[in-house]
Amino acid sequence: MDTNLHVYNSLSAKKEKFEPIKAPFVGMYVCGPTVYSYVHLGNCRTFISFDLIYRYLLHLGYKVRYVRNITDAGHLENDADEGEDKISKKARLEAVEPMEIVQKYTLDFHEVLDKFNNLPPNIEPTATGHIVEQIDMIQDIINEGFAYEVNGSVYFDVETYNAKFGNEYGKLSGRKIDELMAGTRDLDGQSEKRSPVDFALWKKASPTHIMRWNSPWSVGFPGWHLECSVMSSKYLGDSFDIHGGGMDLKFPHHECEIAQCKAANHQDPVKYWMHTNMLTLNGARMSKSTGNTLLPNELFTGNNDKLEKAFSPIVVRFFMMQAHYRSPLDFSSDALMAAEKGYLRLMGALNDLEELKPAETTTAFDLEEWKSKCYAAMDDDFNTPILIAHLFEAVKFIKAAKDGKASIAATDKAALQELLNAFVFDILGLEKEEQQASGDDELVDGLMKTIIDLRLDARQRKDYATSDRIRDHLQNLNIVLKDSKEGTSWEKE
Ligand code: AMP
Ligand code: ZN
Repeated sequence: MDTNLHVYNSLSAKKEKFEPIKAPFVGMYVCGPTVYSYVHLGNCRTFISFDLIYRYLLHLGYKVRYVRNITDAGHLENDADEGEDKISKKARLEAVEPMEIVQKYTLDFHEVLDKFNNLPPNIEPTATGHIVEQIDMIQDIINEGFAYEVNGSVYFDVETYNAKFGNEYGKLSGRKIDELMAGTRDLDGQSEKRSPVDFALWKKASPTHIMRWNSPWSVGFPGWHLECSVMSSKYLGDSFDIHGGGMDLKFPHHECEIAQCKAANHQDPVKYWMHTNMLTLNGARMSKSTGNTLLPNELFTGNNDKLEKAFSPIVVRFFMMQAHYRSPLDFSSDALMAAEKGYLRLMGALNDLEELKPAETTTAFDLEEWKSKCYAAMDDDFNTPILIAHLFEAVKFIKAAKDGKASIAATDKAALQELLNAFVFDILGLEKEEQQASGDDELVDGLMKTIIDLRLDARQRKDYATSDRIRDHLQNLNIVLKDSKEGTSWEKE
């Protein structure tokens, strides 16, 4: 199967032609959320971006196995393997079982992504469901000589790994060991680690640590990075196509994943590493830890102090699609208002196209050229802003055809409808909002048709006083009538 898709690989820092290891099958793994709080819009941006990527791969005809995990244990407050487990801490504060926390926020995560019209992944494994496999992988890494045990905890030995694999640690994130060493706090010899750059594969649980499992080394819990190495290789193989996440995960999370897999299996786990850029609010990254967040439901209900009105999930999705996934995106009321206007224009054009009467020939639009430009945009590392610019060229053409300034042949009309449906609904994942197809809209359309017919009757009777009166009354309501060869249409200004 040959497509012209090129994707940006964070590992080589350039765009590469997409050639899956076992085409037409594609293995794609995306790091999921740590389910200790509600997902914020920043998290959603990353998951919506990968939903777009998943949708486009499916559209091109690939058979994708999309795995997205749920982190329900092992993610400590601090990336240097210190602090409490995020889920245990929340459970302690709320005086509930950790699994109640996991359940509550996993449900929220699913509900929110469903509202954004994200497709579910094919497999959604959890860290706690794969403790046995994680213990096995740690044992493999110890057996290969790249990990050591101290007081019941097991750490990955970065220096030994680097000596064997030619200083690979840091190749994804561009970090250098010397700089990492210089950047670590002086632990006054308190750390059990041989080197501050080593990271935990297994931690012995302190007496107060609630989430704990038996292992050959201690009653404890796995390190955060391990679950993704284990679950990606279990479901996609030791070497698979795409691994994604937000760019903040490059280091240490993904860097450590590469090291673990390579230490255990002696091969690079991932062909294309893909990272999304951050959603910012007031110029700063949206983040659970700083509290600079907006929750999806606060946005959908309008119940927040940051935006002037409520916005629907599909408008927010469209807003996100207007930026490339590797560009930063700032969230603001103005940008959302503009996205809402754009979305309504696009949906309006789709309705107008349906109503257009086909002509003998198509004028003022080269369908084939337009189609190849749309695919070229998506093939260029999923460039949605460029795709959307092309979609609006089609919107302009549809408007011209509606106004009698252009025309479309029947076969082109059917082809344009099919392509627009594919790009707008299947690939961008937009939906017609309920309000669009609501009974109210149908009623208004019906009433307007009656008024337009009455005006036409009046004109045919040469009763221009009545037909002008109808037009003026509508104008007072900001409704403009447009007469063309095709008949009379109306528009709200
Ligand atoms: P977390 O639950 O914090 O591990 O985050 C889940 C996913 O959301 C990860 O892939 C993060 O990289 C991503 N993420 C976190 N904050 C943002 C943000 N402000 N913009 C985009 N993605 C983010
Ligand atoms: Zn992960």
